[in-house]
Amino acid sequence: MNTPVVKDTYLAQERPQNLYILLVRFLRGGVLPISIFCLVATAFASAPKAQIQSADNRPSSEAIVVTLGTAGGPRPRVDRHQSANLLIVNGTPYLIDAGDGVVGQINRAGFDFRKIGHIFITHNHSDHTMGLPALLATQWEFQRRDPVTIHGPLGTAKLMKGAMAFLAVNSEIRSAEGFPSSLSALVKTNESEPGVIYRDDNVTVTAAENAHYNFPRESAPYGRHKSFAYRFDTAERSIVFSGDTGPSKGLAKLAHGADILVTEVSDVDELMQLYKQNGIWDNKTPEERQQWLFHQRNEHMSPAQVAELAISAGIKTIILTHFPPAGGKDDDFARRVEQVKAAGFDGEVFAAHDLDRF
Ligand SMILES: [Zn+2]
Ligand SMILES: [Zn+2]
Repeated sequence: MNTPVVKDTYLAQERPQNLYILLVRFLRGGVLPISIFCLVATAFASAPKAQIQSADNRPSSEAIVVTLGTAGGPRPRVDRHQSANLLIVNGTPYLIDAGDGVVGQINRAGFDFRKIGHIFITHNHSDHTMGLPALLATQWEFQRRDPVTIHGPLGTAKLMKGAMAFLAVNSEIRSAEGFPSSLSALVKTNESEPGVIYRDDNVTVTAAENAHYNFPRESAPYGRHKSFAYRFDTAERSIVFSGDTGPSKGLAKLAHGADILVTEVSDVDELMQLYKQNGIWDNKTPEERQQWLFHQRNEHMSPAQVAELAISAGIKTIILTHFPPAGGKDDDFARRVEQVKAAGFDGEVFAAHDLDRF
């Protein structure tokens, strides 16, 4: 890689999380020992470097999941960012989705945003893609010169064409100000069919179509847009990212035998209650209500449906994420963990917060 190793303190100067918050969360029975291990080591400089521990306390030096953004949907939240996850394998970061704020979250997690060379977009809803132009522009502006490949389902090439058009003005200005290479030379798009879409020394990435889209035959998006789940097979672990989806045979097959399932979860009744309280429900026409209910019931998963998927696939650990704004600020969604367990899943279940590590 030609990208220079610059020890800019501003690139990763913020600690992953406040130690006090982590301790409180840990004592409450929530997640996660790993960040505490890291921060305790940081706090006590004389102590030996902490061994990174995985969620199930196995040594995990090779494959780590960082939940950068755990909000579901595009609504702004004060306590959670839009969808994004980092998978670090042997020190190489892979980004799965890039919701708004992703550059800052990568920075806060302590990673160099310029090192990300492969971005895997599950689908092209805005809460999974809005941070993409910011990330690409910032990588270019801070001297990444190796290509960045954006992998995604049908529709991604169109999205990237638009993103590059959006960034062209900035590129033109900065090029005139002395930038040696063009932004367009940096960015590659890999719009894929389901199957193995990428492989290197660290990972084999397989995509499967999930059940997030149900476009009517006569509608414009029909046949033009798809939604993916991804499976990353590493030497140490197999990790599946569900993307947004309802119960899906494609996802169930993809997840079979995997160790970790990073999955969306929703609760239509809680969300409907919120919408009734804040007036959104009353503002919907009967037809809009029907469409919204169809979307929530068929294109997202309940805790019981998550449990059913994980049990049938033989998953060991579930990481719940993409929480819709049902519970208000600082909701830890611990009830989702209990709901998944109550539905019969007896492995580990975590309700992720932004910047948790597994
Ligand atoms: Zn989403
Ligand atoms: Zn979506």
